[in-house]
Amino acid sequence: MTKAEALKELVKAGKKIAELGYVIGPGGNTSVRCGNTVYIKASGASFEDCNPKDYVGVDINTGELVDGKRRPSCETLAHLACLQAGKGIGAVVHCHPIYVLAWGMGGKMLRACNPEMVTIIGSDVPVMKYTPSAGAPFAKKLQKYIKDGYNAVIIQNHGIFVAGDNIRQALYRTRLIEEGIKTTVTAKILGKMRYMTSKEWKEIDNAEFEDYRRTLLKMKG
Ligand SMILES: [Zn+2]
Repeated sequence: MTKAEALKELVKAGKKIAELGYVIGPGGNTSVRCGNTVYIKASGASFEDCNPKDYVGVDINTGELVDGKRRPSCETLAHLACLQAGKGIGAVVHCHPIYVLAWGMGGKMLRACNPEMVTIIGSDVPVMKYTPSAGAPFAKKLQKYIKDGYNAVIIQNHGIFVAGDNIRQALYRTRLIEEGIKTTVTAKILGKMRYMTSKEWKEIDNAEFEDYRRTLLKMKG
């Protein structure tokens, strides 16, 4: 992916995140990998107003600024940790959706309640205990979840980090998690719970048409 493509996708995804109400003002950040450079939102920039110059390039290994003059997001280390988790991860979305925040307070693993959650999220979603997100201890803890095979992690009293092959996939995952929580909470109110069984999970995971949908998601939008 070229720098111009990365910046275009970051701007587009940021506007969508703002439109969905997943952050307020300068909250949240996104990143896209371009070889050894990671483009990430500059500190203090608000998604709804962002244009390409609000994103800066940092070295994936050192976090050093290599493209641009502004200070990168204070959560850059967390993004780099996800991108280096070694599963072909090309993008990370971090935001604060309201239902994700509420679910995080309960501390329970979020399980799939529909086939799209199985196919597109691709894992259950754990809740990590609150840790200040700006430092290396947070980044290390977060990376462990991604290395363990989770594609998204809810952070108690904060928000969510979602990894993806590209930013489109990471954003779809984020939206499915927020919607999945709404469904789960509504089902709890109605009093009956039923999640996808592991047999159903396997069937969906192996279905040819789901494979096709997954392939489409890897394409550029
Ligand atoms: Zn945050």
